[in-house]
Amino acid sequence: MNFIRAKYLLPLSDSMGRETRIQDGYVLYKDNQIVEVGAYHEAIGKRILANFSPLSVIGLQKEKAQSLEDLVCLPGVLLPGFIKAHGHDHESPIIGIVKDVPLTLWLDGAVNIFTRFLEEEGERIQPHLRYSPHLTTYLKARLDDIYYGITSCLVHHCGYNKYHVSEIVQANEKAHTRMIVAVGSQDRNYYEKVLDKDPLLVVKRMDEYRQEFSCFSRCSVIPGPDQFFSNGPELLKALKQWSDKNGTLIHIHSAEEYETTQWFNKKYGMTTIEYANSIGFLGPKTILAHQVHCTDYELELLQKTSTKVVHNPLANTILGSGMPPIPKMLEMGIQVAISTDGSGSADNQNILSAARLASQYQKALYRDARLLPAQKVLEMITIEPAKILGLNAGSLETGKDADIILIDLRRPNLTPSKITNVVENLIWASDGSEVRYVIAGGQTIKDDYRFITLDQDAILEDVLKLSEMLDDYKKQVGSLKGTGANQ
Ligand SMILES: [Zn+2]
Repeated sequence: MNFIRAKYLLPLSDSMGRETRIQDGYVLYKDNQIVEVGAYHEAIGKRILANFSPLSVIGLQKEKAQSLEDLVCLPGVLLPGFIKAHGHDHESPIIGIVKDVPLTLWLDGAVNIFTRFLEEEGERIQPHLRYSPHLTTYLKARLDDIYYGITSCLVHHCGYNKYHVSEIVQANEKAHTRMIVAVGSQDRNYYEKVLDKDPLLVVKRMDEYRQEFSCFSRCSVIPGPDQFFSNGPELLKALKQWSDKNGTLIHIHSAEEYETTQWFNKKYGMTTIEYANSIGFLGPKTILAHQVHCTDYELELLQKTSTKVVHNPLANTILGSGMPPIPKMLEMGIQVAISTDGSGSADNQNILSAARLASQYQKALYRDARLLPAQKVLEMITIEPAKILGLNAGSLETGKDADIILIDLRRPNLTPSKITNVVENLIWASDGSEVRYVIAGGQTIKDDYRFITLDQDAILEDVLKLSEMLDDYKKQVGSLKGTGANQ
């Protein structure tokens, strides 16, 4: 049995009330499951010591607890592990390059060159690294997530990455995070070498992946066509059918960029969501990333079909894509999660800063400080994405998976934190680096800031090497074309 106790606890659960803030709270968990959550007092400590032996206590310097003094109260706040509902694990080595350009140019100038480099130069660069270049890249992304307290994620495995599912599953196993891999596809408007030739082959690929990875309990595979713009109607219909048949989610980029959104009007005489609706792609298991540009009618379609949205404010602002009408979506009852997108377009995986930006942007835009309070955006990176992704996580309550983080409050930027302002401080004052403990599936994967499942130094050293080799490669190949409406 395992025990963690801290100065504050935020259960974020429907059963205890989402806004409940507990002073001196504890979580008791066994294997992958939470057994008890609540306010700590001496009588509870005595009962736990009497009933559960041996008892491991997070933060205790000895192996097992023997007395009440051993039930250490950590100077921090306990909350469920963050859930990232849209990201890309292949972008972590390309942070900070090709900035101040719109999405299409950024895809051509940064992402696609990097994925082509991994694909075409993989064998040549492999001897310089500990693992394959793909695995190195994905391990770095796992490191990023754990650093910021993200215990579950949906990874949109776009472009060439659709051929590298086994490496990402391997990275996730090693890290002991939880992952849904949305396997990409594209059959139009994209770099020719990566185009899928036949919807039937894409469906076959999904069948094979599903069979191959069904034995991994912390990882599942779903269809993730890259975007509406790059996937023709027959391919989208085939993948939606596959998702219906197998009872899985389906994930896609939607209406991220103004130009590609306009393209649908020219090509089909309808908007992106009208088009998606016309081919039967929308529904409660359909999760759209972005949905920046949308009309009132499109919002109605999303509402009627119970389609879900993942908002990525870091990427939407840095690429100048625009921002979706989040307050209106919420008012209409559309379920929305806040996420980071990939490290390449967001430049980091600091999901707390994504929550902050989501809120501050809408407050300023509508000149209304009451919009998207700290509590609401915290729910949008925990309990809300858990519901959207169908995970038994996102809150601290009995029976939920033991995905728990502790954020250290002993920092100048978080002092003073009290029961009355701890949620607000997490959103407005945290810099994301204060995640001291991360427990995923009952296993401690970050222990007093130390990574347990991953070798941080080795991964960072290899990613730096990879990045230097990419610089040399870029000098030879120039840029790629064929990823956007303005090609
Ligand atoms: Zn994305």
